[in-house]
Formats: sequence, structure tokens, C-alpha cells
Amino acid sequence: MGFNMSQLQHLGVRKYFSKISMKIIGRVGAAVLIILVLSLAAVDRGSYSLQLEQLLSTQKIITQSQAQTLSEQFSEGVRSGAVHTLTGVLTNPSIEGVKVDYADGSDSLLVGEINSEFDLSLPVYFTDKTTGSKSVAASITTYASTQAIDAARWLRFKYAVAMVLIVMLSIVAVLALAVYTIIGLPLHKVTQAIDTVEQGEFPQVDWNSNDEMGLVIKRLNYLHSIQHERLSGLEQALNEKERHEADRLRNLVNASFEGILIYQQNELVDLNEPMAGLLGGTRETLIEKELAQLFSWDVLAFLQAAHNDNARPFLETSIASVVDSNAEPVSVEMYINTIEYAGNDAKVVVVRDITERLKAEERMRQLALYDGLTNLPNRMFFMECLAQALARADRLGSSMAVMYLDLDHFKDVNDTHGHAAGDELLQNVAKVIGENIRETDTGARLGGDEFAIILEGDNSGSFAPEVLAMRLLEGVNRCKMNAKIGSDFGASIGIGIHPGHPIKSSDLLMHADLALYHAKDNGRNNYQVYTDNLDNDYRRHRLLVERLRHALENNLLELHFQPQANSSSESIVGFEALLRWSDVMLGWIPPQEIVAAAEKEGLIRELGAWVIRQACTEAAKWQYPYRIAVNLSPIELAYAGLPDYISSVLDETELDPARLELEITELALMADMDQVGATLQRLKNIGVTIAMDDFGSGYSSLSVLKKFPFDRVKIDRSFVSNGNEDSEENVIAAAVIDIGRRLNVDVVAEGIENQEQLQRMKDQDCAEIQGFFIGKPIPQDEMLTFLDNISSEIKKRAS
Ligand code: C2E
Ligand code: CA
Ligand code: CA
Repeated sequence: MGFNMSQLQHLGVRKYFSKISMKIIGRVGAAVLIILVLSLAAVDRGSYSLQLEQLLSTQKIITQSQAQTLSEQFSEGVRSGAVHTLTGVLTNPSIEGVKVDYADGSDSLLVGEINSEFDLSLPVYFTDKTTGSKSVAASITTYASTQAIDAARWLRFKYAVAMVLIVMLSIVAVLALAVYTIIGLPLHKVTQAIDTVEQGEFPQVDWNSNDEMGLVIKRLNYLHSIQHERLSGLEQALNEKERHEADRLRNLVNASFEGILIYQQNELVDLNEPMAGLLGGTRETLIEKELAQLFSWDVLAFLQAAHNDNARPFLETSIASVVDSNAEPVSVEMYINTIEYAGNDAKVVVVRDITERLKAEERMRQLALYDGLTNLPNRMFFMECLAQALARADRLGSSMAVMYLDLDHFKDVNDTHGHAAGDELLQNVAKVIGENIRETDTGARLGGDEFAIILEGDNSGSFAPEVLAMRLLEGVNRCKMNAKIGSDFGASIGIGIHPGHPIKSSDLLMHADLALYHAKDNGRNNYQVYTDNLDNDYRRHRLLVERLRHALENNLLELHFQPQANSSSESIVGFEALLRWSDVMLGWIPPQEIVAAAEKEGLIRELGAWVIRQACTEAAKWQYPYRIAVNLSPIELAYAGLPDYISSVLDETELDPARLELEITELALMADMDQVGATLQRLKNIGVTIAMDDFGSGYSSLSVLKKFPFDRVKIDRSFVSNGNEDSEENVIAAAVIDIGRRLNVDVVAEGIENQEQLQRMKDQDCAEIQGFFIGKPIPQDEMLTFLDNISSEIKKRAS
């Protein structure tokens, strides 16, 4: 802060300007006066000698009064000490003498003796001769040379110059002093005071005068005091506000659930209560601690890195109590940011307790990775474990195996005993797995009734997947017995063993899967270990599927038609369409294999549709309305769109629906009976007939025949060909024929290969027959010729 001229003018300096000048003039004037008086006095004293010298030089005879005056002046001079001067002058060697002329004409001359004897205080008397009265009268005459007078004059001039110089110097000195005391000193004080303003101080200037300077200083002091007051008031207000703000902020920050701390230069400057809680201390004990005293290295590294651009946005870690080393560390998530704190840059760290979140995540992980029913790892987790186990085996050169365990006929348990029983069974199987594997092994439920196990071998030689497989089969059997369920229930196990060289997990799984496939093929309830042969089978399977697709696309499949005849007249009543395929690469493939592969690979609906269309097209060409029987896979029958498809084919081929018969097996009825029953009913509504195929070969119970109003029942070949009159098979065949008759259902005996079998069926009143003895399946392109031959035969017989 500083003053400039305009401010000074504003203070009315100009109006009072004369005061300062008056003051200076006054002081200087007074000084001049004093000096003048003093110098005049000095000149005055000097003037004795001057006057005397004048008198002496004129050698004038003075009058009485003059003498009187002179005398008085002498006396005065003596009194005042001027005699000394006179004496000095008179002793000057240039003055040769003093002559005193008296009025009476006498005179006296004092030469050379003046110094000691001339007593100027003695009056020179003049005596009036007539009256006799005595009066003082004298004339004094000095004798001086011209040289002496000149010297006296020169001296007088030097004296005068010196006097002038002294006077002038005195005046200058007085002036300087006056200016310093009146202007310089106060100005200096003012400058000093103004200088300290920059440091925020407003000192009072110690100066008291009534001139302009005094006024300026008074105003300055006033301004300073006002400014000071205002500033301190402001400061106080600010402090108040700051404290209020700080309180408000602290309350706000403490209300947060998150821990918040602020640090500057690695030192904690503030924190809220939740943060103190996380660190296991109080705000007071923690404040001013260094970060390194509070946090582990990973947090310190995170905080350090936060100064870089590519720092991590947050850190998940745990915070230990600084007080209680036994306390459980708290899992937290940490964010960092830069803020301004108390006017400087500071870092604020926000810490969130994520214990609950982690628990929830763990629960979610549990849900995501574990099977809810059995608590075993699910397929996803299993795959993860497998990848790790494989990597370990490769690294350590140790053995390992994957085992697939698939329950046989588990569906029956669900259907017959209910889902609760099914669930309990699955849990018990999981328990069996858990009890038999080691801690390093992994048992998983892949879904449904599929389980899998990863076995990891160590170098103790105790790696024996087969032993485990046997134990598991026993365990599953025990479960079955405990649950008192059907005799078919069991497990099939396929084992893929690490081949000793790096293998992809998908390949190892495929090995186990192939082995399982073979275990099932092997009549279930057994285990199979994968070998390269199995692999060959698998490759053949893949090729077969590939070729089947190709055959379907290029219409390379064929149908053969096997005659069905009336047992008593032996005349043909219909034909069964049978699938034939001879591939250029694979050769002749049995229809069961084609159908099984198509079922497994999802091609069965396409294949079945082709058979139906082909059979209906062919039958529509025949000159006699023979029945045409088509085999249906259970999977086809489960397809709700089947009736619509069949009626569209019938429309297209213009085949009488009554001529089409669909052969289904018991297996088809094992599925959802409501749905299958509805489909069958819709088919019957179209007008087609339904036959129960292979009856007696499977799980047949005679009650199956009551489940649905079949139009025909075909007794399986095994009851015909193996039977003799008294055999068990024959008894069963007879029973089936009997039930058929009672339910008003025609029975067809399959696999009649000779006259004896034919006769037996005839004897038992079996309505229809089919078999090589009646006729082998006929290739499609021979059908029309074949039928021609029959019709001419019939005509021959008739004629
Ligand atoms: P299936 O329905 O029981 O068909 C009768 C099978 O018995 C046919 O075998 C037939 O050639 C054979 N056969 C007939 N008479 C005799 C005989 O006197 N002695 C002997 N040993 N066998 C006889 P194929 O053609 O090999 O068919 C086997 C099975 O393949 C069929 O059994 C049927 O279940 C299935 N199949 C055939 N074609 C188709 C089809 O187009 N679709 C469906 N879904 N399955 C089919
Ligand atoms: Ca059949
Ligand atoms: Ca059959």
C-alpha cells in the first residue's frame, strides 16, 4: 500500500502548504535574526576599533562632548572588556603612537608606552580658566602610516567576508535542520510504516505536529487503524466461518459409511470416524501418523502409483488394525483423488468395506460354480479344474484321469418314484463319489444324471482309476438297494487316462465319453477305460454320421419292403418298409446302426421324414391297396409336429390313410406318456393305424397294451424263432396272442423262417405272419414286378 501525490492533494496538502514553508521560514528567519544580532554585536564590538581607527586616522581634535563620549566609550570599552581589543589594536606595531590634544592647546604624545601605561579610563580634563571649573576635554590623535591603514582596511574586509560566510553557512545549516526535522524525519517514519504494510502490519507512526505532515500522518494512522480493525475483524470472521465449515464437513464426512482419510507428504492430516474404525484406532491417535505406519506395502504402492497417469483406478485389498494384531483384517476397496486441503494439494483416500459384497460374491460364485442339489462343482467349475489338473500333470509328469459316471435308467426312478426320490438318489451318488475320491481329486455333477471325476496321481503308485470305478459302481448299487428301486438302475463309467504326453482337455473328455459310450453299449453297470480301439470306433462313428448326412442330401438311401401275410390264407396283406444303405466308403450299414447314429446326432427327424415320404410314394403306385408299415423312432414320436407332417405327405401322395401303419416300440411309451398318447391319438384321428413293434423284447409288461388302443401287436422275433412248443418263449407268445384276441387287437408274428414256425403260429391263431419264410425284404425297384407276379398268381388261382 502506498500514497501518491493525488492522495496527498486530496488530504488538503496544498491548502496547508504554506504552514510548512512558514515554519521553515520562521525557524530560518529566527535563526537569521539571532545570527544577525550576534554578528551585529560582534560588528558592534569591532566598531570600537573601527571608530577609534577612524578617529585616529583623521587626527581630529575632538570637542568636549566628543571627548566625553569617547571617554564614556572608553569606560564602556573597559567595562565590557573591549579595552582588550583597543589595547590589541594599539599594540599593533603599525600604530606608532597616540597624540592627545587638549583644549588648552597643550598636548601629549604617548608613543611606545601605550601598552602598559596608557590608561584610557582616565578622563582628560579641560579646565575653564575664567571660572576655574574643570571639564573633561581631550582630543586624541593617533599616528599611523598609510600601510597600517591599508592593512587595517584589508583586515576589516576579511572580517566582513568571514562574517557573511558564517552567516550564510549558519542559515543553510539551520535550513537543512529545519527541513529534516519538519519534512525528512516524518517522511522517513511514514515510509517505514508504509513498507511494513506489505507484511500485513499497520503500525501507527509516532509523530505529532500540526502541519501538513502531521495531518498526513494522522490520516495515515487513522487509515492504518481502520484497516487493521477491518482486517482483524475479517480474519476473525473467516476463522469463524472456517471452523464452522470444518465442523460441518467433519460431520458430513463422519456420516459417510466409507472411510475417508486425507494425507499430505505421506502424513495423515485428517480422517473420519469410519476410517479410524477400519484402522482400529481413534482420530486423535491416528492423526499425523505416517502412511507407512498404517498400511501394508500393496496399499503404499497403490497410493504411490496414484501420482502417475496410468495408475490403477482402485485397489482391492485388506486393512489390518494398527492396534490389535489379532483382529481379522477387513476387506476393502480403495479409491484415491487429489483435493485442496488447507490451501494445499492433498490426497484423499476413500475406503469402502467390501466384506458383505465379497460374501455375496462368494455366494454367487458358489451358485455359479457349484451344483445346488449335490454341492459338487458344476460343469463350468469342472472344466476349470480339468485345465489346471492337466497343466499340473504335464508339468510334473504325473498321471491323471477323467472319469464320466452316467446313471442308467435314472429317468425311470424319477417317473416311478417321483422327483424327490430322484433328487435324494442323486445326492447319495454324490456322497458316494465324495467318500471315495481323495482330497486332490475333483468330483463334479455335469447335469442331470451325469457326474465326472478328475483323478490326480502322485508318485506313490496309488493311482488306480479302475479301483475307484469299481468302488463307485458298488456304491451306486448300495444306493439303489437302500432306495429300494428298480433292478435296472445302475451306473456306467468311462475313463480317459492321461496318455503321458500333452493332451487337450477336450480330447481327454472325448476319451472318457467314448469309454462311457462303450460301457453303455456293454450292457451298462460297468466301467470301460479308453483305448485307441475305442478311438477308432469313434472315428468310424464320425465318418458314418458324415456319410449319412451326405446320403440324405443326395438321396442315396433306399427302402426295401418285406411282405406281411394273413396266417391262414398266407396271402399278402401288407409290407414293412425297411431302411437300406450301402455307402461307397463304409459299405453296407445295418439299419439299427444308421438309426442309432441318426438319433445320437440329431438327424433322426430328417431321416424319418424321408422314410415316410418314400414309403407312401411307393405304396401309392401299387395296383393293390396293400398296407404299408413304417418304423418310427421314439424320438420322432416325441415330435409334436409329426401328425401334421404325415397328413401332408398323405395328401401329397394321395395315399389312403387307412393303408399307412406306424410301428412304434415300447421305448416310445417310456417317454412322457401324456404327450406321446396325444400324438398317437392325433395320428389315429388322421386314419392311420398304430402297431406295437418288438413286443416282449424289452421291458414289456402286458399292461403296456392297455395304455393305448393299438391296432396291431408284433411279437418279437425271439419268441418265434427260439421257441418250441413247450418253451417259455412259446408260452409268452401264446399269452400275447390271447390278450390280443381279448383286446380285439390283431397279432403279427415276426421272424417266421420255416414251415414249423408258421404252423405253430397258425395253431395258436396268430392273425398275421412276417418273416423270411413268407418273403425277404424286396428292393424298391423290384416291387412293381414283384406285385405283378403276385397278381398274375392270384388271377391264376382264381381261374
Ligand atoms: P424290425 O422293425 O423288427 O424289423 C424287422 C427286422 O427283422 C428287419 O431287419 C428284417 O430284415 C428282419 N427279419 C424279417 N424276417 C426275418 C426272419 O425271418 N429272420 C430274421 N433273422 N430276421 C428277419 P432289418 O431290416 O435289419 O431291421 C432291423 C431293425 O431296424 C428293425 O427291426 C427296425 O427296428 C429298424 N429299422 C429298419 N428300418 C427302419 C426305418 O425305416 N425306421 C426306423 N425307425 N427303424 C427302422
Ligand atoms: Ca418293425
Ligand atoms: Ca420288429
